[in-house]
Amino acid sequence: MVKPAWVREPGPGPRLVHVNATATGGGVAELLHGLVPAQLAAGIDAGWAVIAGDDGFFAFTKSLHHLLHDRGAPRISTADLDHYREVLAPQAQWLAARVGPGDTVVLHDPQVLGLAPALAGAGARVVWHCHIGTDAAGAAGPEVVWRAFSAELSSVDVVVTALAEYAPPGRPVAVCAPAFDPKAAKNRPMCGVETGELLAEAGLTAGTASELAAVEQDAPMPVGARMVLQVSRWDPLKDMPGVLRLLPGLPGDVHLVLAGNDPEEIPDDPEGLAVLAEVRRLRAELPASLRRRVHLVRTSQRDAERAALLINALQRRADVVVQKSLAEGFGLTVTEAMAKGRPVVAGRVGGLCAQIEHGRTGLLVDPVDTAAVAAAVCGLLSCLRDRERMGAAAAAAAAATYPMDRLVADYRAVAARIPEGASR
Ligand code: UDP
Repeated sequence: MVKPAWVREPGPGPRLVHVNATATGGGVAELLHGLVPAQLAAGIDAGWAVIAGDDGFFAFTKSLHHLLHDRGAPRISTADLDHYREVLAPQAQWLAARVGPGDTVVLHDPQVLGLAPALAGAGARVVWHCHIGTDAAGAAGPEVVWRAFSAELSSVDVVVTALAEYAPPGRPVAVCAPAFDPKAAKNRPMCGVETGELLAEAGLTAGTASELAAVEQDAPMPVGARMVLQVSRWDPLKDMPGVLRLLPGLPGDVHLVLAGNDPEEIPDDPEGLAVLAEVRRLRAELPASLRRRVHLVRTSQRDAERAALLINALQRRADVVVQKSLAEGFGLTVTEAMAKGRPVVAGRVGGLCAQIEHGRTGLLVDPVDTAAVAAAVCGLLSCLRDRERMGAAAAAAAAATYPMDRLVADYRAVAARIPEGASR
């Protein structure tokens, strides 16, 4: 029988059980790696289970992801929906046998929304935390999802979203921003020496093959070079190819580092290989003088702690961090860069607008306007004072707005809103 796997099995309860589709890769997994320990430390019997799925299941759930961002043709096929429900049915039974009245289950994103009816049937409180969406009112993509999933949604007690605009109509909603863990390997303070050692160990500045990451480059990045960075999954909406196209508009000494997970390691993101292939093709087509300034870094979760330290080092080393997303639910990569005092240039979309106050804690630009993005990056590169001023304001804003204990309290408040045996 296909069944979920515990990342952390909860105790006797009352339990707060998170369920999502992957233990590594992407913002939800990142969030849960910080949130679950924080909830345990706060005396909450927290658990975390990850569902399984096949290629057809994850191709469908990725299409739901795009629809919630209002991308792609606004259609859902009955066959895909039936398959989705078939894959989840035994896993819903497995989970429903392990929770009951007094417990709260938090389902993260559309991959696991289909578990809601069985869990509600078991008497648990059911929260759906939808991390993605669009702020365009009346958008066709989300409407199609809400219609197809009306039965599942009616079993949800509260929907949690990062922005109010992402919520489906007709269900109680709580708006809770994500959070980051300043003590985690991804974010903990790191001196310049350690940063340099990690980048050398990864092969970025040393040019040697490494267990830590796979780096594709013509030559190592010079140790003192100015560096522009984007960190993200190889997802079409993150627009890594668009970041590569910034290169001709940047000063000739600036190196561009595109860092992302190994796509083979993220089961719920089937598009990664194709995006990475496109980035490789674009890089190969560049004249040698530009190509030597592009470095593709693929991190592996085989040693998750070291991979997180490498991302930490890259973010600290970058002179400017870019997040050229065409759509973005929230964008933890930006929170992480801001928390490290980095000046960020980000697409004026979704959760990036919620995080950045334009001109004070970063710069927001039209992400499809390559010249405008490059100009914003160049402007920051040319002015150390602006970079320092923005970086300091960004660090203060991230620390004040996105601490993990705030999210722990948010979840407590959400669960407390749902009466025992809530009527759905
Ligand atoms: N990330 C990582 N290694 C990578 C690329 C991304 O650890 O090679 C992390 C990144 O640091 C962040 C998360 O994955 O914590 C991405 O979250 P975000 O909300 O930015 O985007 P999502 O992937 O959820 O769309």
